[in-house]
Amino acid sequence: RSLALKDPSLLVDKALVGGQWVAATDGAKIDVTDPFDGAVIGTVPSLGVDVLRQAINAAHEAQPAWAAKTAKERAQILRRWFDLIIANADDLALILTGEQGKPLAEAKGEIVSNAGYIEWFAEEAKRIDGDIIPGANPGQRILVLKQPVGVCAAITPWNFPNGMITRKAGPALAAGCTMILKPASQTPLSALALAVLAERAGVPAGVFSVVTGSAKPFGQEFCTNPKIAKITFTGSTEVGRWLMREAAGGIKRLSLELGGNAPFIVFDDADLDAAVDGAMLSKFRNAGQTCVCANRIYVQESVAEAFAEKLVAKARALQLGHGTEPGVTQGPLIDGKAVEKVEQHVADALEKGGRLLLGGKRSALGSTFFEPTVIADVTQAMLVAKEETFAPLAPIITFKDEADVIAKANDSEFGLASYFYARDMGRIMRVAEALEAGMVGVNTGALANEMAPFGGVKQSGLGREGSKYGIEGYLEIKYVCLAGV
Ligand code: ADP
Repeated sequence: RSLALKDPSLLVDKALVGGQWVAATDGAKIDVTDPFDGAVIGTVPSLGVDVLRQAINAAHEAQPAWAAKTAKERAQILRRWFDLIIANADDLALILTGEQGKPLAEAKGEIVSNAGYIEWFAEEAKRIDGDIIPGANPGQRILVLKQPVGVCAAITPWNFPNGMITRKAGPALAAGCTMILKPASQTPLSALALAVLAERAGVPAGVFSVVTGSAKPFGQEFCTNPKIAKITFTGSTEVGRWLMREAAGGIKRLSLELGGNAPFIVFDDADLDAAVDGAMLSKFRNAGQTCVCANRIYVQESVAEAFAEKLVAKARALQLGHGTEPGVTQGPLIDGKAVEKVEQHVADALEKGGRLLLGGKRSALGSTFFEPTVIADVTQAMLVAKEETFAPLAPIITFKDEADVIAKANDSEFGLASYFYARDMGRIMRVAEALEAGMVGVNTGALANEMAPFGGVKQSGLGREGSKYGIEGYLEIKYVCLAGV
């Protein structure tokens, strides 16, 4: 099935390796399918590790010249890349929806808002300031220089096939690093389209390569190749842990954005309608497949029934279908495994006393569609309270008071996003400070933007993306002790 693109040259079947568009040496390919019905919408090469090494060598060769450009030159190229992404947002959205399944409006939203990371870091390139510190001894000065870490490897997931790339490539290239990106094999077409636009923007050969192929051998090569200085990864905690272990040999720099298990708390003083709207956005956006999704919804006892009723009414109104159909607000899940996981969470919750208020099963639309689901009377003992569901399942757990809900919310090895709705200012400050999470949304269900530091604590990751802090992971500090002058 072909996508109706205004610029068909954005849909490519080759990988970008050191400025060359290449197929696999042995002709091996990966089919890219529409999760709606499994139709093949494109193919990409399944490259061998030999070709990956060429990309790494090219990135290593290109890095000094890229770093030697003035910050303003790098900024101008990044700015052109941003402009091209915005100008081609409609086509990029069609490609994204085609391979990932999310509604077209959400796809376009992802592209436009995450292009902001390229724009922001184009600006930040010019603000990589060092320091001059008074010397410890007479006649000495302490200089602090910020220098690029070098060649970076990026591994990105399928849930935000476009946005997870710009938030890594933006700061890396701004800092003077080069990057080799391995996108998720389910969604490589968005990554390759971004690479086409990077080339058009004037990103030099070797500075940004996109390699498609098998995750494990590529991950292994990134972790052990001495030319790779840093690995930046967004994906599961399990794979993050593996990368950390494998990269230990070379003491590689790591940025990890891993799984979450976000608590979404509604206190009795909250604006209940606003809380329901926030929960809808946080829970059901991208069919529940975001790492900052509300995973556990805690509602104070006195407002629990009213909240559940309003949430069910809104969730019932979600429109399932192909992402390009007008009015559709929920697409299919990414694959069969994702459906099995939510089925397991539903079955476990119902077995242990959960009360099904909506959905709970595969949709009559077939494929990997799952009905928007709400379950009440959920407890901490259920799987859904412990694991990331990554699907449109809203479990409601009631709580007594602040201390009770903070203990419950923090009872997790994860600490990425968290949310709560309340009006009392004292409560807002206490709860925001007490939640063990890298991010707290207060009276909002949406957090991410390029001006804010995105990232997790505990087993949700290392480092931050976005904001002035987001470039630090791509810079090394060098101390120069200047004496005898
Ligand atoms: P998800 O559950 O979101 O698919 P994964 O962590 O499995 O999370 O995948 C995220 C990204 O990591 C994808 O690009 C995938 O191909 C890649 N990946 C999976 N396993 C490995 C591995 N062993 N080494 C490196 N990358 C991997």
